[in-house]
Amino acid sequence: MNGLMMDYPLTLQHFLDRVARLYPTKEIATKIGPTMHRYTYADWAKRVNRLAGVLERLGVARGERVGTLAWNTYRHYELYFAVPCAGRVLHTLNLRLPPDQLVYVINHAEDQVIFADASLVPLLDKIKGHLKSVKHFVVMADGALPASALSPVSSYEELLAAESDSFAWPHLEENEAAAMCYTSGTTGNPKAALYSHRAIFLHSLAQGMSGSFGISERDIVLPVVPMFHANAWGLPFTSTMVGAKQVFPGPHLSPPDLLNLIQSERVTITAGVPTIWIGILAELERNGHYDISSLRTMPVGGSAVPRALMEKYEKKYGVPITQAWGMTEMTPLGTVSVLKSYMADWPEERRFDYRVKQGMPSVGVDIRAVDEDGKEVPWDGKTMGELEVRGPWIISAYYKMEGNQDRFHDGWFRTGDVVSIDPEGYIQIVDRTKDLVKSGGEWISSVDLENAIMAHPKVLEAAVIAINHPRWQERPLALVVAKADFKGQISKEEIQEMLAAKFTKWWVPDDVVFIDAVPKTSVGKFDKKVLRDQFKDHVLPA
Ligand code: AMP
Repeated sequence: MNGLMMDYPLTLQHFLDRVARLYPTKEIATKIGPTMHRYTYADWAKRVNRLAGVLERLGVARGERVGTLAWNTYRHYELYFAVPCAGRVLHTLNLRLPPDQLVYVINHAEDQVIFADASLVPLLDKIKGHLKSVKHFVVMADGALPASALSPVSSYEELLAAESDSFAWPHLEENEAAAMCYTSGTTGNPKAALYSHRAIFLHSLAQGMSGSFGISERDIVLPVVPMFHANAWGLPFTSTMVGAKQVFPGPHLSPPDLLNLIQSERVTITAGVPTIWIGILAELERNGHYDISSLRTMPVGGSAVPRALMEKYEKKYGVPITQAWGMTEMTPLGTVSVLKSYMADWPEERRFDYRVKQGMPSVGVDIRAVDEDGKEVPWDGKTMGELEVRGPWIISAYYKMEGNQDRFHDGWFRTGDVVSIDPEGYIQIVDRTKDLVKSGGEWISSVDLENAIMAHPKVLEAAVIAINHPRWQERPLALVVAKADFKGQISKEEIQEMLAAKFTKWWVPDDVVFIDAVPKTSVGKFDKKVLRDQFKDHVLPA
């Protein structure tokens, strides 16, 4: 129709071009061993152009997948733009997957080339005999390439050196695929989410907005969340869009390493799963000498943020946690827990009651909760239902998974998360459908119990799982990790009494077992599948 807008495709090429023109002197810093690698967006953009030339030279065709097996570094960030802007598809490989699953995802995605950090080459060596599609390996090393059995194999730096600073970028449509990630699924094989340029473009706009993470050119952004976990939650894309300085931690993820990095680079926004911040808090409490006053906010998600964690960071260290909820299938942002202006006057307790919820839907995301018959439940803050979502950055199907699409219906995606939605529009995750404890036909939220236990001053971590029960079908069992200084100094009764004061009687776990650590999934979440297996024969006290 005449008079409507230009047909301007929403692609990552716009971000690349924009940042190189407007912010050429802004810095990108990566921790590599004891030193920092530093360069500017202008330097980065030249190497992104060269890297696109490398993809041509290696014979990767438009639309084909390029695997990356890498930590959060500047080279990985070069791949983040060169691959999609050249019309190829970036497939970030989860370096913590067990070898058989790594083989599965590489073969399923039909990766043509794999770019790997030198330190991760031994991982590839182990599985290379099983890879069906990979025609070339490229190793990203600072010096000579490590010895390996990979073939054919090239040096990233040598390949880049042979190309030119200006690549003839192809015309892209906004609905072309830009990137893909596999879910870290705890059941069955991982499933793939394929992201379009348009999805990432719109997601970046929404994530950057004030009222969401509010990321601007003034920020210094440190993604601790791995670049293979839902594209580091999209942060490298959003940071590029606005021209923020970026800091990458490389493989150095210990609490002292991260705290030193936050302090020395004056980081303003850092993001990751709660496990990371539990470890960092323990280090802060042990060694109070870190200066983290530069931090403006910490987006935390991937699992529920324990209230005690949020209160400690804010009240003692002045760092507000912004809780967010999302999924690999959602690029990943779904909801953000920011308060509405009139909530600022509420008493502190009540404000925290809201902040520990998973938040309001981002602009661009519709939500609803439905009961077991598929009927929408009211937004009353009480009625539970399975959360369903729709929006322009939510996948419409799993990639190449015919027959496994039962989570998509009538334009909605079933999340598998059980929630209540309150009259203000904030969701509260009650549980994953499969983690709920179903006792005598009623639901017990393992998440609520875990958060209450983790608020105990002697507790570091806690996970609650369902144990089969002859009378009630299932009953909760709490697995608790005491803080290092309190090992052996905390009793089962202490935990049960604390919970009895907070919850109705039948919610209190029948048993509490102290363990050394909660096992974690490949993206750092509590791995309840492992715990369920370990404790499947556990006998609850009568
Ligand atoms: P992933 O695709 O690995 O990011 O996992 C997505 C799942 O993580 C969601 O379906 C939720 O079950 C869980 N999740 C993500 N963010 C939160 C949060 N803030 N609170 C509770 N659970 C979360």
